[in-house]
Amino acid sequence: MRQKLIAGNWKMNCLKADGLALAKAVAEKTATAGDMPIEVLICPPMSLLGLVCDLPHAGLKIGSEDVAEAPKSFGAFTGDVSAEMVKDLGADYAIVGHSERRTLHGETDAVVKTKAENAIKAGLRAIICIGETEAERDEGRALDVVATQIKGSVPAIATAENCVIAYEPVWAIGTGKTPTVADVAEVHAAIRQELTDLLGADIANGMRVLYGGSVKPSNAKELLAVDNVDGALIGGASLKVEDFWAIAESQL
Ligand code: PEP
Repeated sequence: MRQKLIAGNWKMNCLKADGLALAKAVAEKTATAGDMPIEVLICPPMSLLGLVCDLPHAGLKIGSEDVAEAPKSFGAFTGDVSAEMVKDLGADYAIVGHSERRTLHGETDAVVKTKAENAIKAGLRAIICIGETEAERDEGRALDVVATQIKGSVPAIATAENCVIAYEPVWAIGTGKTPTVADVAEVHAAIRQELTDLLGADIANGMRVLYGGSVKPSNAKELLAVDNVDGALIGGASLKVEDFWAIAESQL
């Protein structure tokens, strides 16, 4: 049984005061909820990660939005933060290969795979993002694109425990547009099959595959009820505790 994961990606948002207030508000919700059948995760920007990890956060997982690609945890890599440093702050997860990193920073599948490996070796759970652009979908290539991204981005050391896949159609991120339920079902089934071919059925059947792209309280229940959808990666709606919690609550 795959435990659903509700994950918030704050992106480059929040200063100290509003970021800590948001993190505290989510942590209070998880503490009040007590034992939950789902996992709830927030991924603040690197500037706030240590501060957020230091807050009391029973029942709430914390992750980074990225880790360094560098082959070592320490050294001459100005501006980078290694997976070991992220783990040392108290984080549990790291997002890698978000489409904004792939697009704005030219991160290739090979880079994403290295980052995922670094995260896993440091004891973090890697959330590996994949997803097609609008043009690729219009050309009928969505399934090919995600298959190629899985082959190229998922490391051989990935297991159901240390790795999560997030399917995020690029055209759905921050746009208010979402694929149809049938399209989500088709892509997630294809992802599960691709993971089976790559890692074997035992690992693939246990690995969580999240949907991401304009998830909000009004569509969460429907999207998260689709076969092979094991949670959500949420951008915009994770910045408002009412919205983020409403999405989590839809799974309680
Ligand atoms: C994201 O950035 O991962 C994301 C899914 O954003 P949004 O929910 O705002 O579409």
